[in-house]
Amino acid sequence: VPVANIRNFSIIAHIDHGKSTLADKLLQSTGTVLARDMKEQFLDNMDLERERGITIKLQAARMRFVDKTGEPYCLNLIDTPGHVDFSYEVSRSLAACEGALLVVDASQGVEAQTLANVYLALESNLEIIPVLNKIDLPGADPERIRKEIEEIIGLDCSEAILCSAKEGIGIVEILESIVKKVPPPKDTTKEPLRALIFDSYYDQYRGVIVYFRVMDGKVKEGDVVQFMASGKEYEVGEVGVLSPVQMPVKELFAGEVGYLAASIRSVADARVGDTITLSRAKAEKALPGYQEATPMVFCGLFPVDADQFAELREALERLQLNDAALQFEPETSSAMGFGFRCGFLGLLHMDIVQERLEREYNLNLITTAPSVVYRVHCVDGSVVECSNPSALPEAGKRKEIEEPYVRIELLTPKDYIGSLMELAQERRGEFKEMKFITENRASLVYSLPLGEMVGDFFDQLKSRSKGYASMEYSVTGYKESKLVRLDILINEEIVDPLAVIVHRDKAYGVGRALTQKLKKLIPRQLFKIPIQACIGSKVIASEAITPMRKDVLAKCYGGDITRKKKLLKKQAEGKKRMKSVGRVEVPQDAFMAILRLE
Ligand code: GDP
Ligand code: MG
Repeated sequence: VPVANIRNFSIIAHIDHGKSTLADKLLQSTGTVLARDMKEQFLDNMDLERERGITIKLQAARMRFVDKTGEPYCLNLIDTPGHVDFSYEVSRSLAACEGALLVVDASQGVEAQTLANVYLALESNLEIIPVLNKIDLPGADPERIRKEIEEIIGLDCSEAILCSAKEGIGIVEILESIVKKVPPPKDTTKEPLRALIFDSYYDQYRGVIVYFRVMDGKVKEGDVVQFMASGKEYEVGEVGVLSPVQMPVKELFAGEVGYLAASIRSVADARVGDTITLSRAKAEKALPGYQEATPMVFCGLFPVDADQFAELREALERLQLNDAALQFEPETSSAMGFGFRCGFLGLLHMDIVQERLEREYNLNLITTAPSVVYRVHCVDGSVVECSNPSALPEAGKRKEIEEPYVRIELLTPKDYIGSLMELAQERRGEFKEMKFITENRASLVYSLPLGEMVGDFFDQLKSRSKGYASMEYSVTGYKESKLVRLDILINEEIVDPLAVIVHRDKAYGVGRALTQKLKKLIPRQLFKIPIQACIGSKVIASEAITPMRKDVLAKCYGGDITRKKKLLKKQAEGKKRMKSVGRVEVPQDAFMAILRLE
């Protein structure tokens, strides 16, 4: 098809508003995927994504659509990830489009990620088509939501499409509307090649497969391309389109969306947001908006069994081939032995990596509580970035500590304003702004330390608003705070992975709560185990786990002590991952205790 008949679009939505379901229906309705070939939710093709019902990595699909006048079109749908950790990837896939479907659940209305995604789409100058989804639900009130979108976002919704992705209502109207409203790409085939990478993944046999949108020029098999940010050059082995399975073609032109394979060794060479150009006829300037991924959250990963260290390294290296945002370096802990300090974009990213390591690589890991990156100004004038509380320079050596702050926006029904303000204050939030976006719902904006959000903040937000509030955040910068390091001693030994950095005013409370929690989590042994929280050499809280009495054991389990021990050991292995710290067995839960203090 000529470039005038190409439409590149994306779907944006708050999580669970029906983006994936709608994408599936568009693919089915255009015959791109036959219903019987359709795995549920074709576009979310990683197991983890399907299980968690979230889109992590975006994908793309080309559809053929003949409009009501008989004109054939080529529609490229570029899917976007649905989570805050991946907003940079959302912005890149939007930059590859001319239009976006804005899907809003007609029973729920505008949520925090709806807003965040709309702003990203507006920044990319996209034509936005509002779609009111789930009109089949008894609670749907499309008229009210229509007004809400107009009021909050200022988007004309007089032609918003009423849709039920589930029931297949409104699908053809959406396709017609894309053709009518989304502008075709500009025909800039004569200019030097510039293609925007919006996704890439590592294939064991073919190297990295790069998904891109040709913005200018053209690219074909045999071309030597350069990735402008990494500077790496490769000869293209294959180009093709995504229909949605990969289908090789001769050449791709400005306006088109496709993939290439070039035996690329690591996704770090061809990162999302980078610009592809031709080595022999380079574009002068890369496409705008490329960003290095900076990990915001760090944690330690230690094999339960020290023999698995090499395997863990290998697994991390393999994952990194496919995940340029994942960082790691060896870490040695006096309590835990050898492991790795790993950096992630955010908490979800961290969760996913941990889960994949355990599932796909069969590793048995102890994970330490996540930490943000602190910036420490030392007395000698040096500035140290510290992502590991136990490595924080000693009190005498440091002048001040800065910590990362985020701007956080909460959307909530007005009934929960009070409890959410309380939550934000407990987490050292500085109130910035409140406005009513509708009669019944408010937006609260706070400036809040990222470190206070790591952990159960999101769970708290949900539970204190009965599930109705939503949130969105972005990192704004660093600010000085009165922070101290809290060390934990178990059985008189410092357990370095339990060290935490907390605000001075909270240190006593946290110390007390943490020692109490550890007391509950660490199983009793045959001897007494003191647990202490200290700042420097000063003990600020202490507890003790009382010893198990031998006769109690005997009574419970009968005579044979070796059998009994075996039994206990088996139970422990089956139920919990444990790490021996000195003479004490510490379960995985204990390393995360700081995240769930009462
Ligand atoms: P996403 O997170 O935006 O990708 O949302 P999904 O497509 O995964 O949908 C979230 C949930 O809403 C799923 O349980 C869907 O079955 C359901 N859902 C999606 N569209 C509709 C709809 O039109 N009507 C109803 N009743 N449920 C829907
Ligand atoms: Mg989805």
